[in-house]
Amino acid sequence: MTKGVKAIRGMNDVLPDEVHQWQFFEQTVQDWLAMYGYRNIRTPVIEYTDLFVRSIGEVTDIVEKEMYSFIDHLNNDNLSLRPEGTASCVRAVIEHNLLYGSPQRLYYTGPMFRHERPQKGRYRQFHQVGVEALGFEGPDIDAELIIMCSRLWKMLGITGLRLEIGTLGNMESRVLYRKRLIKYFEEYVDQLDEDANRRLHTNPLRILDSKNPAMQSIIERAPKLIDDLDETSRLHFETLQRILSDQGIQFEINLRLVRGLDYYNRTVFEWITDKLGAQSAVCAGGRYDGLVEQMGGRPAPACGFAMGIERLLALMHECDKMTEPPTPDAYIVHHGDQATDYAWETAELLRNSGHRVVLHCGGGSFKSQMKKANTSRARYAIIIGSDEVMTQEVTLKPLRTADEQTRVDVRALSSVLRV
Ligand code: ATP
Ligand code: MG
Repeated sequence: MTKGVKAIRGMNDVLPDEVHQWQFFEQTVQDWLAMYGYRNIRTPVIEYTDLFVRSIGEVTDIVEKEMYSFIDHLNNDNLSLRPEGTASCVRAVIEHNLLYGSPQRLYYTGPMFRHERPQKGRYRQFHQVGVEALGFEGPDIDAELIIMCSRLWKMLGITGLRLEIGTLGNMESRVLYRKRLIKYFEEYVDQLDEDANRRLHTNPLRILDSKNPAMQSIIERAPKLIDDLDETSRLHFETLQRILSDQGIQFEINLRLVRGLDYYNRTVFEWITDKLGAQSAVCAGGRYDGLVEQMGGRPAPACGFAMGIERLLALMHECDKMTEPPTPDAYIVHHGDQATDYAWETAELLRNSGHRVVLHCGGGSFKSQMKKANTSRARYAIIIGSDEVMTQEVTLKPLRTADEQTRVDVRALSSVLRV
């Protein structure tokens, strides 16, 4: 290979042997979302940088160090590859006035981009399915979002996920909490890392989100927001818990769950696995009641989540839930001019009936063509030579059983392939 022609670090190719697993996942997700009445929305992968800075928050990991931002030199626009989907979704909803009249249940899927250190389960281009319910006060919709996740895990055959839920209260409770947090962390300034020190006075909640092992014990002992929680948020959180319990969904309350983005309030949640090492969150979300208004829309409450497709596929692998790749029904080998014409016709005829058929291209002896048929993973080889042309038949040879080959009338071929 020419030196230098390589994919960008942390950005993966999905090769033909792996792609069926993605397709199975995508099809399952599509069926699942239809069951709950969520509709697909598609937005560009590039937006004005400002959209993400304003929604995700200036003092967050994503905006401070993970965004692929660049100047479009043709018109000097400051643009970014999307690091997540909520901001774009909210932008589109406002821009097209989708909340006029009724709330919206929406979803999107696609690549997201974050300049992180690549490792297992953490990539620079990764893929998410995001689900957003806009215009709903909750907590019933918060519960719906969580309950539907639990159905998806069943549909995918994933077991052993743990659900953590928490609450961030309203703006006022967070202001009070912020003060208490600053006071607490100020006592440990010498133990805070550089990021935490920098964020102490701008965004102390972010310190709770730190993955630095050296800081975990101070974070463990930090004050909890629950003590500052406003009455409405408390009721919201309790009702959510009640619905989840009534519906048989197990959860743990994690009062230190803050999520890495600024727009969340009240409910936050994460689905966590122990099977993927450090990259343990497979799905995460929460409520973002202020975002629509903050982005210039008419005030509307909202709640949503996003799941990481690579991590879920890895988890399906861990749970032994890999699907078989689809294989051709038949591989047609043919020799001689007339036979080749007849082979083209037979192939198209079978495809008309919905069969998956590979027609040998490139000529060669029957023997070499049969080798290709064997490696194609097709169920049958269809062999066409001058004899078969004469009788309007084909020779059908099973490739995965020891059964004898048979002669089949071409008109009966489709029904024979179907069994
Ligand atoms: P983490 O704590 O692992 O960094 P996050 O809180 O940054 O995750 P979110 O922004 O909530 O992640 O995105 C939702 C989901 O997307 C995550 O739960 C995870 O499954 C997936 N995800 C996030 N970042 C990556 C990445 N760099 N590579 C692969 N998947 C990712
Ligand atoms: Mg992250």
